[in-house]
Amino acid sequence: MAKLANLKPALSSMPPRLNVAGPADERERSAFRSRTEVSQRWYNSAKWKKLRLGVLLRDRFTCRICGKIEPRTSKLICDHIVPHRGNEELFWSGPFQCLCTSCHSSKKQAEERRDPTPRGVWY
Ligand SMILES: [Zn+2]
Repeated sequence: MAKLANLKPALSSMPPRLNVAGPADERERSAFRSRTEVSQRWYNSAKWKKLRLGVLLRDRFTCRICGKIEPRTSKLICDHIVPHRGNEELFWSGPFQCLCTSCHSSKKQAEERRDPTPRGVWY
């Protein structure tokens, strides 16, 4: 029986199954990555947490789409009505609305169907 160490890795001999990205794609991916990383920092900030809670309170913990009242704030999303796409001005200025997680997912999917540009986490 062959020892594990004697087995050749099969991965390198397999043909590539994904398109190999050119430098333009890499630049684009890198720009996208830094945009999402930056907005992730904004979402983690105390400033955002305060702003988000203010929006949930203003909307009385009620989803603006389906009207569901949700007392657990972890199940509510302070949604950017206009997608910010990493734009700091839009991120902080809003407008915002309170959405439940399921309405937010539907809204996000609908927006992605309209604009297939990949993007990061939405809140
Ligand atoms: Zn809803």
